[in-house]
Amino acid sequence: MTTGFQHFWIDHALLPDGWARQVRLAARDGRIVEVTPGQRPGPEDIRVEVAVPGLGNLHSHAFQRAMAGLTEATSAGAVAAGGDSFWSWRELMYRFQDRLDPDSFQAIAEQAYVEMLEVGFTRVGEFHYLHHAPDGRPYADPAEMCARVAAAAQASGIGLTLLPVFYAHADFGGVPPSPAQRRMLHDLDGFTRLLERAGDALAPLGDAVLGVAPHSLRAVTPGELAALLPLTEGPIHLHIAEQLREVQACLDWSGQRPVQWLLEHAPVDARWCLVHATHVEPAELQGIVEAGAVVGLCPITEANLGDGIFPMRDFARAGGRFGVGSDSNVLIDAAEELRLLEYGQRLVSRGRNVLAQGEGVSSGRWLFDGALRGAVQALGVAGGLQAGASADLVALDLRHPALQAREGDAWLDGWIFAARQGAVRDVWRQGRHVVRDGQHLQRAGVAKRYAAALAHLLS
Ligand code: ZN
Repeated sequence: MTTGFQHFWIDHALLPDGWARQVRLAARDGRIVEVTPGQRPGPEDIRVEVAVPGLGNLHSHAFQRAMAGLTEATSAGAVAAGGDSFWSWRELMYRFQDRLDPDSFQAIAEQAYVEMLEVGFTRVGEFHYLHHAPDGRPYADPAEMCARVAAAAQASGIGLTLLPVFYAHADFGGVPPSPAQRRMLHDLDGFTRLLERAGDALAPLGDAVLGVAPHSLRAVTPGELAALLPLTEGPIHLHIAEQLREVQACLDWSGQRPVQWLLEHAPVDARWCLVHATHVEPAELQGIVEAGAVVGLCPITEANLGDGIFPMRDFARAGGRFGVGSDSNVLIDAAEELRLLEYGQRLVSRGRNVLAQGEGVSSGRWLFDGALRGAVQALGVAGGLQAGASADLVALDLRHPALQAREGDAWLDGWIFAARQGAVRDVWRQGRHVVRDGQHLQRAGVAKRYAAALAHLLS
């Protein structure tokens, strides 16, 4: 965080009500206090050509960045099992997470967060479930790994909404957990203590938010879910309906589909983020819209894991709220999450510009605005370039070929659909300059620690 007053002068700024020219933005202690278009720059102002608000990444498992690209070969037994799947990937992921200690975990998280900032994600919702030592016993500080997430956020500068995960069962109906899940498990008393200590670990960050994540309807019983909700006033996130096998198991257990069950048995409202919600029927979709919950879409990971495609076109038409997350972090790219979200819908509907609502609306602008709003809601913060929000600014590089000779929403379309890398030039987070000329200022040191951790883990 930058302490004291600072001023930005932005020639073109994307404000909550649209593009504005010659905007003077005042921040105090990293928080925006005033935004005024049509101003002359002051002599000390930080000058920016084009600035958009930092985007929230509403779903991440940071440590999985270190196994990105390592599960792209067919696994032993895959042919006999009908091919690789989310479930065979999960077995590999469990084996990988068994090797992590707090130091390697933190080094990986720092690398993931640096990469997020470089693509314009300025806050992350860390859906954090790797709590215990490799033998399954709690660390001396039960929130040791939560503290390491906080330390990685501090080192990189990214905003953190920490979502400690409660995980107790292997499947619907309270099935006992498997040995591979031993690092993730709590009873309710233990989890309550974890949350208290996690809150302490977040205090130095200034604007961190603490929520709760019941992992999924597989991993919690209805009684546990009800007991978890009063433990937080922050956001509530859970994985839901990601896989057809999970939908069938929920039907076998309850006679209802996962989203249907949740909407009928839990007080789902605007505090909730339903991560994936891939397999939903129209009535479930409408129920999510009416509850005001955010659907957390992770298009790159959902494609990588072969989850399926969320019916986003129908959800958009109904006014549903959504955001995007990098989830497994197999590839960290804010623009590509939005691009793939739109492209998936174009492929299944055989149309173009299918999500933007209204005539003459830019797809890039519609995707960006929607993802910004959804992430702000799901991560429990104020957002956008307006008073009260964190001074999180992303400057686009007008020298990039995909951004030249255009203006306004066409910059967003160029960034999201045409730019590959390099469209994000600078990033300020809480007023602190964290990315300059496309590179995070701590990139070299973080990459060195990451390389050392990987060499140890994969040897
Ligand atoms: Zn996830």
